[in-house]
Amino acid sequence: MDLDTLKAGGKAALARALAEIERHPDAPETVALLDQAYQAPTAHVVGMTGPPGVGKSTLMNALIGGWRKSGRRVACIAVDPSSRRSGGALLGDRTRLSTDPEDQGIFVRSMAARDRLGGLAGLTVSAMVLMRALYDIVLIETVGVGQSETDVAGVADTVLFCVQPGSGDSLQFMKAGIAEIPHVVVVTKADMEQAAQRARSDVLGALSLGGADGADGWTVPVLMVSSLRQDGLDQLIAAIDDHRAFLEGSGRLVDARHGQAALWLCEAVRERWGREGIRRAGDLSLPPGESPFSRLATVNTRLGCA
Ligand code: GDP
Repeated sequence: MDLDTLKAGGKAALARALAEIERHPDAPETVALLDQAYQAPTAHVVGMTGPPGVGKSTLMNALIGGWRKSGRRVACIAVDPSSRRSGGALLGDRTRLSTDPEDQGIFVRSMAARDRLGGLAGLTVSAMVLMRALYDIVLIETVGVGQSETDVAGVADTVLFCVQPGSGDSLQFMKAGIAEIPHVVVVTKADMEQAAQRARSDVLGALSLGGADGADGWTVPVLMVSSLRQDGLDQLIAAIDDHRAFLEGSGRLVDARHGQAALWLCEAVRERWGREGIRRAGDLSLPPGESPFSRLATVNTRLGCA
């Protein structure tokens, strides 16, 4: 299948392509499709993380609704850490999201987190690259357990971190040293007004202490959103767009995506061939503009034959 066929085939074709990538990740057709998609990105990739219960799925539903209203097409990947140990690949639409199955402008996939890329499913990066060439927004949700905040930064252009009022999340945020990761902080359940205000000041304090805020020219907005009342949603969507414009304006988007792809390549080699493989592979640098998928295929062939 090539990218044009995939574009013409809608959600059913994408589901088939994802199944194919999972079954035959090394097949030349798979690699060729991923190369094509890698070279033709259209979407803004948004990562969302935060502890269980903070309100991520509710917010995802609200965001999807907001984006759809303005005609944007959205693909979602929900990474499920609970299936981490089973190692099985379980794809299926997540029931927590209530989207219209008839709407061709929404595609939802949940994936089991495995150890590749420290917790994001092995398929996540390939799926993201494919969706990035087909949709306007790719939203990746992971539960904030340990590493996943950093993992999502390895695949997303813009990272949202969700904090719940009155939960101590903002303290956690300070301690865990993750203050430099998010580009937008969302205080959820802002209908709990006083607690939300307090959480917001705590996060603002943590950001200024961490010194991350504004360090690269981007000031991290801390927004209060009530998905329940649909308050603050437009501001959140605008902040996500602002970050995208910031990245594009400064040429950072291309650099950041290249950095992610280069890192993914090393991780993929390490995953398959171990540290010894990294040593044997020698130069694993990824020239700017080159797809990591064909590069990985070349390395795999070389290591397999050596
Ligand atoms: P997740 O585990 O982070 O995906 O969180 P959920 O989206 O499942 O939400 C957890 C709980 O918080 C549910 O009971 C939601 O109804 C509730 N919740 C989500 N958003 C809001 C909100 O904006 N205001 C209030 N008061 N409750 C909310």
